[in-house]
Amino acid sequence: MDSSPTQTTREKLEAWLRYYDDLNLGAFYTDRRAMGKRATKRAGESVPAALPAMQMSIAGATAPNIAAPVPVLPIVNATSLFEALDHVEGDTLERIREDLGDCTRCRLHEQRNKIVFGQGNPRAELVFVGEGPGHDEDVQGLAFVGRAGKLLTQMIEAMGLTREQVYICNVVKCRPPENRKPEEDEVATCSPYLFRQLDVIAPKAIVCLGLTAAQALLKTKDSISRFRGEWFDYRGTKLLATYHPAYLLRNPNAKGEVWKDLQKVMALLGLQPKKSSR
Ligand code: URA
Repeated sequence: MDSSPTQTTREKLEAWLRYYDDLNLGAFYTDRRAMGKRATKRAGESVPAALPAMQMSIAGATAPNIAAPVPVLPIVNATSLFEALDHVEGDTLERIREDLGDCTRCRLHEQRNKIVFGQGNPRAELVFVGEGPGHDEDVQGLAFVGRAGKLLTQMIEAMGLTREQVYICNVVKCRPPENRKPEEDEVATCSPYLFRQLDVIAPKAIVCLGLTAAQALLKTKDSISRFRGEWFDYRGTKLLATYHPAYLLRNPNAKGEVWKDLQKVMALLGLQPKKSSR
């Protein structure tokens, strides 16, 4: 790059631009204001590319101070890289299931009987996320069909809904042996499929049943008793965690707290509690 003192400002500017191009820095040097307007992109919308700031200056004939041409990293108010990695354009639940295939990506496949993908309304306004299949789920290939599942059904019906109206799934899709908690690497391997399911269903609310689901979606290490019943934002969707139905089977006294949590969800969705038949 030539930067002799006899060059005009414009020539110097052009030389710098060529220099940036050679270094492949052009894309970094973008206009912050234009990037800020990107905000969130809805399906089907196209986002105009931001004009490189230097190009804009040339168009407006205002030469910047070229003494310190420091490339500016854009502040992008949009989906993070990690979220974008989980997003599959044109995704469907069928495609996610196909991608999962006869999964052998982690050790949980070794003892599983059936993969438990999740079931319910693919356009549900409410999604329940549990930890992982137990014995009955592993046999039937369906989420929450054992004792904890029966209690979940009662909870859903008390909210004035049916199981068919909501979507029910788990963080891991294969039963952990002896119903142990899934390990961190098993959660890390399987949770991208959950993220895709939630992305496709795009519910109004997500209820995490227990700590494993809350940890997977909120990336927290906190104890569930500290944040259950509070609303969080999960990629633009309201998320609330409550106790797992299996915990309620062991601690029936906690049912009142769970009912309070579910009433918050009902208020959000405009649901009326089911009238008692007695
Ligand atoms: N517990 C879970 O977390 N998920 C199920 O599907 C069943 C029990």
